[in-house]
Amino acid sequence: MYDAIVIGSGIAGAAAARILAEEQEKSVLVLEKKAHIGGNCYDEEDHYGVLIHRYGPHIFHTNDEEVYAWLSRFTDWYAFGHEVVAKVDGELIPVPFNLNTLKQVYGEEKAAALEKKLTDTFGEGARVPILKLRQQQDPEIQAIADYVYENIFLRYTMKQWGQKPEEIDPAVTGRVPVVISHDNRYFGDKYQGMPLDGYTPMFEKMLDHPLIEVRIGVDAREVLELSEETGKVLLHGEEFTGSIIYTGPVDELFGCRFGRLPYRSLRFDFEHLNIPDYQGHSVVNYTVSEDFTRITEFKHLTGQKTEGTTIVREYPFAYTGAEGEIPYYAIMNPENNKLYEKYAALTEQFYDFHLLGRLAEYKYYNIDAMAAKAIALARSLANS
Ligand code: UDP
Repeated sequence: MYDAIVIGSGIAGAAAARILAEEQEKSVLVLEKKAHIGGNCYDEEDHYGVLIHRYGPHIFHTNDEEVYAWLSRFTDWYAFGHEVVAKVDGELIPVPFNLNTLKQVYGEEKAAALEKKLTDTFGEGARVPILKLRQQQDPEIQAIADYVYENIFLRYTMKQWGQKPEEIDPAVTGRVPVVISHDNRYFGDKYQGMPLDGYTPMFEKMLDHPLIEVRIGVDAREVLELSEETGKVLLHGEEFTGSIIYTGPVDELFGCRFGRLPYRSLRFDFEHLNIPDYQGHSVVNYTVSEDFTRITEFKHLTGQKTEGTTIVREYPFAYTGAEGEIPYYAIMNPENNKLYEKYAALTEQFYDFHLLGRLAEYKYYNIDAMAAKAIALARSLANS
């Protein structure tokens, strides 16, 4: 009855489903476990009418013209340059650490000399990962690296990952490099902002196609069976021979038989306040104190005008697979990646079965890279 089944309706599943339906005229069944589409990009108005991101702040940014144009078919944009500050000893300093932060921390005079040294060493506009900066021999640059490591990375990373910056995949801290410029924006990309009416309407439009059927509140494991004896996939007990794209955690497809794949989860504590402005910034990172990593104040992200304001605090913890917990981040390291590969190999016995996304590929994708990957995968299935 269907040509393809897509499991999950986050950016990976939704973009793939759209391409399969629109470009390849395949009939697509999208199965979504949550009670809504959009995966962790999902946003909605809370009880107070404030547009919130239910699963933490998602800020779109890209240099990819093609992805930008493709997504722009489903939404207009509220363009803004996202800025983050860190609360350090009662002061708010710009993050990523940049030449403005340098001035604030070291004072005008000292910063001027250091600025010259950093610019001479790395070049104007360079983006230097903290772990690279720490390898510099120059004592003054070492002192800056120590400051940044201690005050921006160490405790935030301990909270977020339960490990030190040097113990996790360097690409993770490399996402937030030291920036040799006076640009306070969190991302360096050409396009940045929010879907003008929110993410959920963007997903609604993406999935609104006569060849796409979306079923929400359906756990794929209850309707799909992967028969390892026969190599066949059954949908409601009947053989399904079309393409399958799975965007969930791959260990759960096989009863976690080799042990659980580790992920980090988050608890989100939302709070509504009857004041117009809580922190004056969309995101404040707590890099040296508190148990939570950051506070997001949504109205500053979305540009929405409301009387009150809603904020959310994020408390990271190790995902255990307990009912109601959500895995958000793969903990990429050689050991976990090896375990992942064992599970991924089990899917190879099923013809035309594809793993896609942060969870299913055990990777750290941004929205734009995820959309690009999903589009490419779906296009590659043209003749399957
Ligand atoms: N990070 C940090 N301090 C900060 C911001 C980021 O230590 O103030 C580190 C931390 O390890 C984090 C990583 O950099 O997990 C990536 O940060 P990003 O803001 O990209 O994380 P996301 O928004 O995807 O959770």
